[in-house]
Amino acid sequence: MPMYNPKIESMKADEIRKLQEERMVKMVRYAYERVPMYKKRFQEKGIGPDDIKSLEDVHKVPFTLKNDLRDHYPYGILAVPVTEVVRFHASSGTTGTPTVVSYTKHDMDVWTNNMARAYACAGATPNDIVQNAYGYGLFTGGLGFHYGAERLGCAVVPTATGNTKRQLQMMKDFQTTVLCCTPSYATFLGEAAKKAGMDPLKDLSLKVGMFGAEPWSNEQRKHIQDTLGLRAIDNYGMSELYGPGVAVECEHQNGLHIWGDEFYVETIDPDTGEVLEPGKKGEMVITMLTREAMPLLRYRTKDICVINWEECECGRSHPKIMRITGRSDDMLIIGGVNVFPSQIESVLLDTPGIGDQYQIIVDRALLDSLYVKVEVAPEAWNAPGFNKDALAKKVGENLTAVLTLRAKVELMEPGALPRTEGKAKRVIDLRKE
Ligand SMILES: [Zn+2]
Repeated sequence: MPMYNPKIESMKADEIRKLQEERMVKMVRYAYERVPMYKKRFQEKGIGPDDIKSLEDVHKVPFTLKNDLRDHYPYGILAVPVTEVVRFHASSGTTGTPTVVSYTKHDMDVWTNNMARAYACAGATPNDIVQNAYGYGLFTGGLGFHYGAERLGCAVVPTATGNTKRQLQMMKDFQTTVLCCTPSYATFLGEAAKKAGMDPLKDLSLKVGMFGAEPWSNEQRKHIQDTLGLRAIDNYGMSELYGPGVAVECEHQNGLHIWGDEFYVETIDPDTGEVLEPGKKGEMVITMLTREAMPLLRYRTKDICVINWEECECGRSHPKIMRITGRSDDMLIIGGVNVFPSQIESVLLDTPGIGDQYQIIVDRALLDSLYVKVEVAPEAWNAPGFNKDALAKKVGENLTAVLTLRAKVELMEPGALPRTEGKAKRVIDLRKE
């Protein structure tokens, strides 16, 4: 698959490191001199930009947290006059104050290039027709995927979210080859296509899916690929880090390439903040290396993953995220055991007869055991002699075997759980309501 920017994308690890070092030293000084919050943080630690001379010194740089963005709403982290900003995005603030991100012309250019690289890395070419079913607006998904596809030279169909019937009709009529949306919406589209009497493998022309914005498992990936007849590519990003386009899988689907010329990645122990060696599982921390409008030094993503620096078969040596295994703030503690929703999903989808829609209910009364509602697969539900109790028992046993936890399982009829066009709500925490 041709690279969008072969000069940068095929750099070797030592060349990437060298570029990262130059950019890091410059960025630390830039943030210190232009953003009062950073100057204050450095001074509190008794250090200045002169103390960061190489990548070896990065561990001294103070972390940036999501709350820092909220506390400086809306313009507090700006490193340029607001007149130089060409775009704002904002995340819906579940806690009240939204987090605002800002972009200069340079930042827009970098972001768009990162996205063009992501499409090419996933196997898209300028000949593709891209249907973008991410939300357009303050959320970065829609416009990020939109401009990246245009830059690569694809034709974009900006359907945005919703109106599933029209999505499917256009996908068929336009012979869409690349689909962009959340993995849960891709699953939903596959089900809706079948319900509408369509055979996605015959009636549609899809070849690549650019999926992201929520965690998903390999089992869910396989299901989407089999249903829609495309290669389902995992994408990573977050609005604080421009948006989508931070990291993406290549055709080998073995880890997500992080663009190391733009993002410096570390993993830390989430409790102590100590930097871990590559290959050790920890919280991912990212420094943006060239961002002008809103520098972010050592941003704590809360995502738990493993980072590898091995050259990939595709010819890229940029570091890889070996799939996100959970978020430190998603982690549930049930009966004293740490459980990630992704582990539960993996057990459910590995159990024959189980569908791919589920909910994990967390309740104070159930703190010593797991409570899962999960749909039965339609084939199993409609099969003669279907034994609901036996299947529920089997699911419970599988969960207990993997998670070492007691599990209460409630099997639901196919289609019984609420569907969503955005991020699926998998964990219902009754303790917070
Ligand atoms: Zn690769």
